[in-house]
Amino acid sequence: MAEFKQEPITIDGSAGEGGGQVLRSALTMAMLTGRPFAMEKIRAGRRRSGLLRQHLTCVRAATAICNAEVEGADLGSQSLRFTPGDLQGGDFRFEVGSAGSAMLVLQTVLLPLALSGQPATLSISGGTHNPAAPPFEFIARAYLKVLREAGLSIEAELRRPGFMPAGGGEVFVDVSPASGRPTVVQSPHKTSSIDASPALDLMARGELLDASLEALIAHLPTSIAEREIQTFLKRAPALPAPGVGWKTEVLRHDTSPGPGNALLATLNFEHVREVVFVPGQKGVSAETVAERLADALGAYLQHDAPVGEHLADQLLVVLAALGRGRFRCGELSSHARTQLELLPRFTGREFEVNERDDGTFDVGLESQ
Ligand code: ATP
Repeated sequence: MAEFKQEPITIDGSAGEGGGQVLRSALTMAMLTGRPFAMEKIRAGRRRSGLLRQHLTCVRAATAICNAEVEGADLGSQSLRFTPGDLQGGDFRFEVGSAGSAMLVLQTVLLPLALSGQPATLSISGGTHNPAAPPFEFIARAYLKVLREAGLSIEAELRRPGFMPAGGGEVFVDVSPASGRPTVVQSPHKTSSIDASPALDLMARGELLDASLEALIAHLPTSIAEREIQTFLKRAPALPAPGVGWKTEVLRHDTSPGPGNALLATLNFEHVREVVFVPGQKGVSAETVAERLADALGAYLQHDAPVGEHLADQLLVVLAALGRGRFRCGELSSHARTQLELLPRFTGREFEVNERDDGTFDVGLESQ
């Protein structure tokens, strides 16, 4: 068994949410900080525990971009030892090999690559619109907007959509070293240098500029998408800007290898974009998909915090990676609470979390 050069951080993969995100966040933070980790009980909180294809692809992708030494990178493995090396740019291609989410593989390696100061491209195949994962549009519109405002330069393109169960989608991402933004990676191999430009400061939504509703459909009748749009428009919560109405669109995605459907609402505010997504499922009616989307959107519009449930848990990694910043979110999910415990184990720095009287939360990390 390979010896660790540094004492590894030992992580119980079943802690908190106990899912794939514990592993992905540990991989991301190990690459960013240079610290090795040893994880046991991987995804023990899930019905099929251990490394599934998506998680294994995350491990392989992380290993490739930083020349890591790794043990336990096998399908079904319940434990992993990961010792990162130096991050390197380049042209990478990763294949999930199932309908597992390509977007979650992307999220695992994106921040380390973007902060490495080297150019990189990524081509990842797998699912692009999976249940319980960010769809492509969420990453491209909501997540990347935040990263760009923090000074990172990243372009993402959906080359082919992939739906469950066939998968086979493909996303292409171009990461340029951001000019004028020093690398903030803190590793034994690099010195830390945090610049004075804004990192992440997302405390208010600003005005609602536009709202769009897209029904994606592949190898299924267009009428499904049309019924979803009609039902949603009847059920949709009121928008917080009297002059803004829904722009609706049916998008045929027949380049997808298999059939699929998803309904997406995008709210484009001055300072933030929220993308709310419900995948269509066999046996679930178009009307039910639309009602679920209306409910999920209603939950976001119930408060006025800019950051929704899913973006919140993902932005905690961004805060930890950038080393400073703050945001306001509507709720702290079990995913987010698990991140609040895990990430400081790599950075040595606790987040400041304050609940407001209206039940929203301010989350921050002070400059050192
Ligand atoms: P598991 O271990 O549960 O099989 P997993 O590895 O696919 O799953 P989780 O640990 O549950 O993943 O993490 C899922 C991630 O996807 C979280 O960051 C969550 O916020 C995000 N996510 C889930 N649904 C959405 C959505 N509709 N929009 C954006 N992000 C989402």
